[in-house]
Amino acid sequence: MERIEEAIEKKVEVMTPARERKLGVYHVSDIVKCPRYVYLDFFSTKKNDLPDSIRRIFAIGHLIHEFIQEALIENGVKKSDIEYKLLKDFVKDDIAIRIVGSIDVHLGDTIVEIKSSSRTGLEKVRDKHLEQANLYLGLQDRGAKKAIIYRVCKDNLKSSTTEHLFDQELFDKQVDWAFKLHQWLTNKKFPPYIPKKASCFMCGKRRECIEWQKQKKEHQ
Ligand code: SF4
Repeated sequence: MERIEEAIEKKVEVMTPARERKLGVYHVSDIVKCPRYVYLDFFSTKKNDLPDSIRRIFAIGHLIHEFIQEALIENGVKKSDIEYKLLKDFVKDDIAIRIVGSIDVHLGDTIVEIKSSSRTGLEKVRDKHLEQANLYLGLQDRGAKKAIIYRVCKDNLKSSTTEHLFDQELFDKQVDWAFKLHQWLTNKKFPPYIPKKASCFMCGKRRECIEWQKQKKEHQ
């Protein structure tokens, strides 16, 4: 059984690759995520230190994602409407940044974001997911009017949905936040702790984050 465990471990590793990083280019998820995580993802050379059990949960999420996308393609959705890539440039005070992302599924006037969840996660949509959907709506140019956050339970594939209409005011704040993030990164300033954005329990950079915080205090 050791052989199976090893194979699973290797597969989980391949399914959660490190993202290539470039200053000035931010993924939609960077904007809704804890800014400290993004900072460490840019500058730290250490690998994520999530326990195997949590990495496997993420892998299940990937599998569910692929399963639903495959089911849609097999039932008439065009491949070009799956993982549709987005890219938009923004300039403020002569500083340019780019926000990129990809929409899980584009169906007519709707974009769909697939999120795997626990049984209790079906009951309420997470703020982070609504924010992500808003960014996707603001970045896309295919005329989508609304976003659906389609949550699927990892235990039994039951689902629930939440609809989100584009909020321009929120989008402007999100773009401002991306510029703020860019400033922390270009100035190599470790960002503040933002409770609303932090998910420390599921964070692969928790140990490192504590070390950086300590170093920051020592240099003050
Ligand atoms: S441990 Fe918490 S504060 Fe630190 S990077 Fe992770 S989510 Fe952010």
